[in-house]
Amino acid sequence: MREGILFVISAPSGAGKTSLCKEIIDFFPELRQSVSFTTRSPRAGEQEGVDYFFVSPEEFRRMVAAGEFVEWALVHGNCYGTAGKSLDLWRAQGLDVILDIDCQGAAQLKKSRAGAVFIFILPPGVDELRRRLTGRNLDTAEVIERRIQNAEGEIREARWYDYLIINDKLEQAAAQLKGVITAERSRSCRVLPTIRTTFPSLRDT
Ligand code: ADP
Ligand code: 5GP
Repeated sequence: MREGILFVISAPSGAGKTSLCKEIIDFFPELRQSVSFTTRSPRAGEQEGVDYFFVSPEEFRRMVAAGEFVEWALVHGNCYGTAGKSLDLWRAQGLDVILDIDCQGAAQLKKSRAGAVFIFILPPGVDELRRRLTGRNLDTAEVIERRIQNAEGEIREARWYDYLIINDKLEQAAAQLKGVITAERSRSCRVLPTIRTTFPSLRDT
C-alpha cells in the first residue's frame, strides 16, 4: 500500500473550488476532504464539522500554540488552519486527501510536505469572478469587495503551482481535476513500491 497523496487546491474566493471539490469527491472512493478550522462565522447552510470546524479566536490561538496545525493563515480577516491529526491518519491508511486552502497555507506545505501536489483554480476572468461572488448571495457587498481586491495577489501565486485549471464550464474543469488526480496516482514513483513483490524484475528499482 502506498502513502496517500496530498492534493492542495487554491483559488481566489468565488472561482469555484468548493463546487469543484463537491463534483469530484464522490467519484474517488479513496479520496477524503480535509475539514479546516476557522474563526469565521458560519454562512447560511454551513454545518459544523462538514464545511468547517468553527472555533473562537481564543481556541484557534490555543491550537496554534499547541502545534496542532500543519499550516494556518489569516485570510480575508479571519484565521483558517489545517489540523495535522486526521491528515496523517488518512494518509497512513493509503487515502488521498484534498485540502482547499489559500496560497499562504499552500506555500507553507510546499516547504514541509514533499510530494504534495499543488493545483490552482482560476476563474475565466475578474468580471466573472465578481458575478459568481455576487450570485452566490452569501457575503455582504463589503466582504465581496475585499475578496475581489485580494484576488489579484492570489492569482500572482498561480505561477508556482503544479497544475492550473480554468473553471469556465464546471463539468469540463471537474474532468480536468479528475485527470490530474488519476495521473498523479499513476506516477511511477508511487506505483513502483507497491508492485515490487509482484514482479521480481522490479525488485532492485
Ligand atoms: P469558492 O469555493 O472558490 O469560493 P464556489 O464553489 O462557492 O467558490 O463558487 C462560487 C459561485 O460560483 C457559486 O455560486 C457557484 O455555484 C458558482 N460557480 C462555480 N463554478 C461555476 C462555473 N463553472 N460556472 C458558473 N458558476 C459557477
Ligand atoms: P471561505 O471563507 O470562502 O470558506 O474561505 C476563504 C479562503 O480561506 C479560501 O481561499 C479557502 O481556500 C481558505 N481556507 C479554507 N480553509 C483553509 C485552511 O485550513 N488554511 C488556509 N491557509 N486557508 C484556508
